[in-house]
Amino acid sequence: MSLLSVIVPCYNEEENVALFYEELVKNDAFFQNRGVEMEVLYIDDGSGDRTADEVKKLRQRDRRVHLISFSRNFGKEAAMYAGLEKSKGDYVVMMDVDLQDPPALLPEMYGALEEGYDSVATRRVTRKGEPPVRSFFARIFYRLMKKISQTEMMDGARDYRLMTRQMVDAILSMKEYNRFTKGIFGWVGFRTKWLEYENVERARGETKWNFWKLLMYSFEGIVAFSTAPLMFASFMGVLFCLIAFLMILFIIVRKLIFGDPVSGWPSLVCIILMTSGVQFFCTGILGQYLAKTYMEVKRRPIYLIREEL
Ligand code: UDP
Ligand code: MG
Repeated sequence: MSLLSVIVPCYNEEENVALFYEELVKNDAFFQNRGVEMEVLYIDDGSGDRTADEVKKLRQRDRRVHLISFSRNFGKEAAMYAGLEKSKGDYVVMMDVDLQDPPALLPEMYGALEEGYDSVATRRVTRKGEPPVRSFFARIFYRLMKKISQTEMMDGARDYRLMTRQMVDAILSMKEYNRFTKGIFGWVGFRTKWLEYENVERARGETKWNFWKLLMYSFEGIVAFSTAPLMFASFMGVLFCLIAFLMILFIIVRKLIFGDPVSGWPSLVCIILMTSGVQFFCTGILGQYLAKTYMEVKRRPIYLIREEL
């Protein structure tokens, strides 16, 4: 018998916990036929509602259900990492509890592993039901990442992914504190098959992401998987030195030809404002990387567990 671990991060999802379970166990027969047992790890990411109680209820019925409760909300990235650390399966799959990652795809995904792939990832080809502004910025983000990062990131890729133990161990060996899973998946490589499906809207409750949170998350992704902004800062430095040099030449020549009438005050102010603006901007970029480095060197744990069943 081999084991499949299902990792499900939950944050205030009391309505979805049981719904998800019902959908998931529809695959029981398929996996039993192939000699695969299942364990379900619900990671309660510091929920303030009855999420943990709902999971405990399921556990009374089905001992394959496990609960890991965090001491507070650490974020989905931390929850996924905890799930990977705790999972014992030969295969591991990560899924959202809101049924946006359809459990009905699991048999097809498992089939691909049997074909010899190390991982099967999913990607939604439509963004139906999402605010247009959000889709627009998402597209810009992926296009930018393609240019400035060596790590491959697929537009519309979800965290819904089935992997072999070998790949899970590779991901666990990346112990960074600032975790950007989409980048980490791409970074470790391995042979990945992509499945595409139409976007599904969440079963119950509200999304935990607003526009601002997503924007901040995208900056995290850029800082974590590209040093291009630092290059940009150096580039601006060189460019401005060059412009200054040309202007000095221009002024010397003008002085020699026309003498030195006092003029140019407004242009001077513009130049000072612009250069100091660029300087602040570049210092800000440095600050971003320094802040991330600061958090990394502290070596704080990625999550803390309050209860484990
Ligand atoms: N989630 C989590 N911790 C958080 C935020 C979200 O574990 O701090 C979980 C959430 O319960 C869900 C998954 O991450 O299972 C995806 O969240 P959501 O559906 O809100 O994101 P979206 O699908 O809108 O991108
Ligand atoms: Mg969702």
